[in-house]
Amino acid sequence: MKITKVSGREIFDSRGMPTLECELILDNELIVSASVPTGLSRGNYEAYELRDEQKNRLGGKGVLKAIEMLETEISPALKGKEPEVVEMDMHLIELDGTEDKSRLGANTILATSIAVLRAQSLLVETELYELIAYLSDLNTVSIPFPLFNILNGGMHAENSFPIQEIMVAPIGEKSFRASMETITTIFYCLKQVLKKHGKSTALGDEGGFAAQFSDVQEALDLVMEAIARAGKGYEDTCVIALDCAASSWYDTKKKIYQWQDRRMTNEQLCELYASLAQNYPLHLIEDPFAQDDWDGWGALTEKLGDSVKIAGDDIFATNPHRISSAIEKGIANAAIIKPNQIGTVTETLQAINLCKEYEYAVVVSHRSGETNDSFIADLAVGTSSGYFKAGGCTGGERLAKYNRLLHIEDELMLALLD
Ligand code: PEP
Ligand code: MG
Repeated sequence: MKITKVSGREIFDSRGMPTLECELILDNELIVSASVPTGLSRGNYEAYELRDEQKNRLGGKGVLKAIEMLETEISPALKGKEPEVVEMDMHLIELDGTEDKSRLGANTILATSIAVLRAQSLLVETELYELIAYLSDLNTVSIPFPLFNILNGGMHAENSFPIQEIMVAPIGEKSFRASMETITTIFYCLKQVLKKHGKSTALGDEGGFAAQFSDVQEALDLVMEAIARAGKGYEDTCVIALDCAASSWYDTKKKIYQWQDRRMTNEQLCELYASLAQNYPLHLIEDPFAQDDWDGWGALTEKLGDSVKIAGDDIFATNPHRISSAIEKGIANAAIIKPNQIGTVTETLQAINLCKEYEYAVVVSHRSGETNDSFIADLAVGTSSGYFKAGGCTGGERLAKYNRLLHIEDELMLALLD
């Protein structure tokens, strides 16, 4: 089974922004496709996303240049070859020839890489997650613990509540299906609680409620009220995760964090996180400090690292080199893994393997601007990532991933009974 052609299509993501879909046409006339998401709170160290920058069309966000790269450079390079993701990723990195994939674009390369992986799984007649496990040198797979987004703030809600995501993780549940039942119950209880307190129940970009709060404690108290209101003992099975996305409210010149009307040094912010961890079942904090504030990261890892997962998103950008530096310095103890931050399946697997080798927890993650591609669900299962976040329990683009996990879980249960 060989690749005869690679082509691209401009499609639209969950925010109505253009993004790229790649199609591989195979010589048995099968067509496999993959599409890539886009982040809004993008870190400075992410690989380059190729956009048209043509202001008179789609605000410069079009991806016609990326399609041209796919069809004029990538297609001839892969044509006539059997799909083999590791070899092809290396080839694409070489063909691009830049550090940050800025010539062909990380979006162009990743869409191809995922499509190649899909074609390869057809070739070897395995499920996508099984092939990922094989490529990761693992002989088992597992369903991750979901971190469900329930409240959106910051850039995802366009309000002044600084925390980008408040998530609930039903880590005491025995199956992913039970976790889905738990989170949807809590979600609708939270809707009632928000209404009771006169808060908005409009949805943010990732499918959680985008209400305004005077401070984080008020938001967390309402989430805890919703958990209790469900009346099913979820207090014992659910924990809380935060994505603070602190790079978006850090003044790099003054080295000050602007938290609503409070201005804080990294030491004061560290104290605030410590008090949250004392008062709430806080399991994980993502991006508690800005991407270059390594001192803040170090201090918090030392203070809370034994009991709370301190997860790097912007600071690591799924880049094995940046994760390595953090490991050397004892910064953080968990990493957010977003394939489009680095731009190939192979480098994403390298980043995950590195984390596992040094016992950093792994959270496979979506982006805020998503498509219906469910690749990351297979990625989480195939690498046994441990954790997974794909937004709230609303929005087809989020449910595409969660429903894929339900499907895989059923498949794995059946295999166990066989
Ligand atoms: C995140 O910051 O974790 C996130 C999913 O948002 P975005 O895709 O906007 O970076
Ligand atoms: Mg984040």
